[in-house]
Amino acid sequence: MQSFDDILSRPTIFRDRNVLSPHYIPETLPHREKEIEKIMKAVSPALLGQRPRNILIYGKTGTGKTSSVKYVVEKFQSHPSESKAKVCYINCRVYNSRYRVVQHVIKEFIPEYDKAGYGLAFLYEKMLDWIEEDGKCLLIVLDEVDMVKDLDDLTYTLTRSNDDLEKGAVSIIGISNKLSFKERLDPRSRSTLFETEMVFSPYSSFQLKEILKQRIAIGFNEGSVDEAAVNLAAAIAAQDNGDARYALKLLLKAGEIAEDEGSQELVDKFVEQARKTVDEDISFEAISTLPKHQQLVLRAIAGLQLEGARYSRLGNNGDNGSALLSGEVYEKYVQTARVFRSEARSARWYREYLSDLEMLGLITMTESGKGQRGHTRFIKLAYSPEKVKKITEASLYGE
Ligand code: ADP
Ligand code: MG
Repeated sequence: MQSFDDILSRPTIFRDRNVLSPHYIPETLPHREKEIEKIMKAVSPALLGQRPRNILIYGKTGTGKTSSVKYVVEKFQSHPSESKAKVCYINCRVYNSRYRVVQHVIKEFIPEYDKAGYGLAFLYEKMLDWIEEDGKCLLIVLDEVDMVKDLDDLTYTLTRSNDDLEKGAVSIIGISNKLSFKERLDPRSRSTLFETEMVFSPYSSFQLKEILKQRIAIGFNEGSVDEAAVNLAAAIAAQDNGDARYALKLLLKAGEIAEDEGSQELVDKFVEQARKTVDEDISFEAISTLPKHQQLVLRAIAGLQLEGARYSRLGNNGDNGSALLSGEVYEKYVQTARVFRSEARSARWYREYLSDLEMLGLITMTESGKGQRGHTRFIKLAYSPEKVKKITEASLYGE
């Protein structure tokens, strides 16, 4: 039996495990220098009291959007001219409506009005008064902006404020992991939000390697991570959407496995092992937090794959042997919705759900070859149908 002293004195490969956690913010963001500079340039007029153009930043998850903008926000706030230019970072996953966004601005800057019971119109007036006091320039960062339920209303209100203000201005930095929400907006809010567009591309395996190395230098003891392991983790994450968050998870998990096995060095076989666990964790989390109808679509695909779909073997699908046609998936979705006492939404929504699911890496889609039923798509789950069925059912039945 080991004592605490034995356990504590056991050699560890980690110097500081927190450095690998998603909450850790590194001091610099390698390979985002250009993007950061571009954002800084775009918002700099605010420091001179002029209204910056609105910006919309999009790109896949884990491409450093949130970190880069937070970096700029911090620099902005510590600039001496900050008195007249204010910035407010809002995570729309939590503050997901016009009312809650305005309320958050109030809470941040005019806390005396942060009380329950005030209506939107009242809070809006207070916000304008506060901006007009000395002609402030308010920069509102809306992270995960696609989560705002009444985004057209929010955009309208924030745009209108610029007409209502005699002095000062409001501008928006929107951030999104999905681009599909653009279609859902009415044309006016679309052109407002997308005044300036910026795309964050996925990291290459070389870039991910450097991002990992930056963390390894502070998070692990010297010499305890093998070069081949870093290469492998970077290569896997690059293949999988170029997602830095994923690369970091892989490294942390691999380190934990190495430690559990009593190894002094993180070598590539631990990365290989970590991959399975990390993929499962991520898919479970992603699926169970999806909105209901997207879960219903997934449940429908899983159901069809388990049944062995009727049409899927028609024609020559090449390596798409078990892929489904989007039409048959829609039919199944309608049925599945009924089973879960819900009504399926229109085909237009269905297509949007598919593209969201694809963005999340939960399904893959390929266009059909020419001549095959016009324009259709083959759909396939990225994870085992048994597992997807289990997770969606647990969540759809409310555990
Ligand atoms: P996004 O908002 O695009 O989904 P995040 O900014 O949240 O991505 O980044 C995901 C994770 O990857 C965070 O833990 C972040 O610290 C890390 N990360 C992303 N880009 C970089 C980078 N260029 N350098 C260092 N770490 C990064
Ligand atoms: Mg983000």
